[in-house]
Amino acid sequence: MYGLGIIKGMAITMKHFVATYLDDLRWLTNGGRYYNDEALLVRQSLKGQGAITVFYPEEKLPVPERFRFVPFLVTDEPAAGQQWGQDWCTSCGICAKVCPPQCIWIERGKQPNGRPKPEPEKFFIDIDICMNCGLCAEFCPFDAIKMDHDYELASYDRTTAHIHDKERLSKPISYWREIAPKKAEAEASARDFVKLAKERRKNKKGGEASGQEERMEEAKARQLVYRGKLY
Ligand code: SF4
Ligand code: SF4
Repeated sequence: MYGLGIIKGMAITMKHFVATYLDDLRWLTNGGRYYNDEALLVRQSLKGQGAITVFYPEEKLPVPERFRFVPFLVTDEPAAGQQWGQDWCTSCGICAKVCPPQCIWIERGKQPNGRPKPEPEKFFIDIDICMNCGLCAEFCPFDAIKMDHDYELASYDRTTAHIHDKERLSKPISYWREIAPKKAEAEASARDFVKLAKERRKNKKGGEASGQEERMEEAKARQLVYRGKLY
């Protein structure tokens, strides 16, 4: 029906408009929602109701887990005294191929004998060109590139500051678990499942009983649970 979309849109706007005043009334007896710490915490959470003014940058609203900004590269946990651990990226180049605006450059590492090494020597993303589509993270077969939550990247430098190199892009896996716990858990379960399936195939070839069905079922169930929570 013509105009149905407009009516739905207006209804959502009206809902937020009314919720703003209801929320004002709810906090009235507790000192008002604009001037007390408890109300501020609620406003900064996903429970915040109605239209609100945020005094950025002093106040910041939390971003949802699915929020995506410029990508970063995942590494293992760093050893003592190190800033990053082993790269998860194998330098396969898939992310650079699927990136619609072609803003990823990768240079593969080389072994001493000149053969290619499955890790990047150099990795650059031009964040002025990146449109935060997330395709690189979707297509990476190694969970090695993820979308970040850090959106405060503006700078006065118009030359190289917005070309992020491997050092700038690398962050340990614990960072990903912190900003996207449900997604990280679902991915870890999927990796467990694939690992167990490979082990089972190998054991079967060797004629041994696999004995891994239950662990595989468990990994699959965990993955489904976390995916269900996420989507
Ligand atoms: S797709 Fe993943 S593993 Fe391949 S180059 Fe990109 S980040 Fe590295
Ligand atoms: S988020 Fe999209 S535009 Fe940005 S680097 Fe990844 S694929 Fe390219």
